[in-house]
Amino acid sequence: MTDIDVQRRSFLKTSLGVAAVTIAPGMLLFDAAHGQPQAAGGKVRWGMLIDTAQCKPGCNDCVTACNRENGLSGGANGQARSPLPNPLPQAGEGANDSLRESHLKPTDPQWIRKIELKDAGSGRELSLPMMCQHCEHPPCVDVCPTGASFKRADGIVLVDKHRCIGCRYCMMACPYKVRSFVHEPLHDQNPDVPRGKGTVESCTLCVHRVDRGQRPACAEACQNKAILFGNLNDPDSEIARKIRTVASTQVRADLGLNTGIRYQGL
Ligand code: SF4
Ligand code: SF4
Ligand code: SF4
Repeated sequence: MTDIDVQRRSFLKTSLGVAAVTIAPGMLLFDAAHGQPQAAGGKVRWGMLIDTAQCKPGCNDCVTACNRENGLSGGANGQARSPLPNPLPQAGEGANDSLRESHLKPTDPQWIRKIELKDAGSGRELSLPMMCQHCEHPPCVDVCPTGASFKRADGIVLVDKHRCIGCRYCMMACPYKVRSFVHEPLHDQNPDVPRGKGTVESCTLCVHRVDRGQRPACAEACQNKAILFGNLNDPDSEIARKIRTVASTQVRADLGLNTGIRYQGL
């Protein structure tokens, strides 16, 4: 038995009400969670600069792309689903149960949400996507009793599904409330993005794409070029140069978490 198994068993023994972890058969979750080895020493820190002036109210392209890329259903209000039937089928109506199941899952995980803001004084309106902020000092990692919540050398914060026991401490600790618990059985998973019922998950910064040299799906899908992805620690990268020349901010910068996601125009 590995140290991890011992820790996990010990924690489970001393915890009440811990949900069982169900991993889809044949899924190798550890490899994807840890991704490719990254150069240490702070040469690479992946991040994003989101330009709120370019992000359009009502546009949901990044959310749709994230759901599609990561095999998420999109939640009851997500764009990845067809419109809800009206009237809604009631539970217990035989064949309608599967229809209801396919449409109504308010507990479906969401890794990115669109937020519309209005300044009460000036009336100025803002639209922006909110996802895991990939904190340099992540509280979700600090509180995780099993080491499942971890930060890679390149700054990407992930959950190792093999270690996660579903205690949800990280969800409580995250100031941005961007983590989701997987309540429902999973279907049609992307083999590049293995997930597990009974575990917690959040935006992976599309680590499987980044490790292949691609941009995250949301950044690629944004037609307004509101999401700039790159290496914050490379002074010659487009994102680093832009952060030096435009005013940008971190959401709740007062918390001192040094987020990898920055916003322009907030
Ligand atoms: Fe963790 Fe939340 Fe920070 Fe993401 S935003 S790294 S989940 S504390
Ligand atoms: Fe760690 Fe969060 Fe999983 Fe609990 S739910 S084991 S805190 S990653
Ligand atoms: Fe979703 Fe990937 Fe964008 Fe994160 S980086 S919000 S996982 S599409």
